[in-house]
Amino acid sequence: LKSPYAGGHLEVIVGPMFSGKSEELIRRVTRALIARQRVQVFKPALDDRYHESAVASHAGRTVGAVAVRDVADIRAHLSGEAALLQAQTDMPQVVGIDEVQFFGADLVPLALALADAGVRVILAGLDLDFRAEPFGCMPDLLARAESVEKLTAICTTCGAPATRSQRLIGGQPARFDDPVVLVGAQESYEARCRLHHEVTY
Ligand code: ADP
Repeated sequence: LKSPYAGGHLEVIVGPMFSGKSEELIRRVTRALIARQRVQVFKPALDDRYHESAVASHAGRTVGAVAVRDVADIRAHLSGEAALLQAQTDMPQVVGIDEVQFFGADLVPLALALADAGVRVILAGLDLDFRAEPFGCMPDLLARAESVEKLTAICTTCGAPATRSQRLIGGQPARFDDPVVLVGAQESYEARCRLHHEVTY
C-alpha cells in the first residue's frame, strides 16, 4: 500500500456525528489489512477494562479493535506486545483510534511518538462538541497532522451538509451548560448545519 508519506505520519478524520468517520477509518484499516500490514485499532471502552471489541459504523460495517479505558491502556497494549515479541519489526505499521475526543490530552504525545517511530497513525473523532466548541485534544491533533479529512453529515432539518452535532434532551435543544452526562434524561443526537444547530443559553 503506497503512502504519500515517506515514514510515519498522522492522519486525522473529523466531522459531526453520522458524517462517516468510522466508515472512513474502517475503509483505511481494511485496505491496510488487505496489504498484509500489521494493524492495531483502539477505541474507548465503556467499562473499565480493555477487551477485544470492534469499531462499527452506523451503517453496520466493522473492523476488530481493542476497547481501552485510557491512553495508558493503549501504551500498555502496544508496549506489552512489543515486549512479548521482542522486536521493533513486530510493532504495528498502522495504528487506528476511533472516538479520539474521549481520550485525554495525553493522546497527543502518544500519537506523535508513534508517528516519529514510523507508524501510520489514523485518528477519527468529533472536531466539535454539542455546543459547537472545539472538542478536547482535537484542535492540537488537527494542527499537528500531515493529513486532515473533514467530513460532513446531512442536516436532519434541511438536507444541507451538516457540520455540527445537535444534542437533544427530551426532544429539546440542550443548554450550553448542561452536564455531559444527564442522569435520567432522554438524550439523543442529530446532524445539523450551522443554520439549524441550536444551543439554549
Ligand atoms: P460517524 O462515525 O461519523 O458517527 P458512521 O461512519 O458511524 O459515522 O456512520 C455514517 C453513516 O450513518 C452514513 O453512511 C449513513 O448510512 C448513516 N446516517 C444516518 N443519519 C445520517 C445523517 N443525518 N447524515 C449522514 N449519514 C447518516
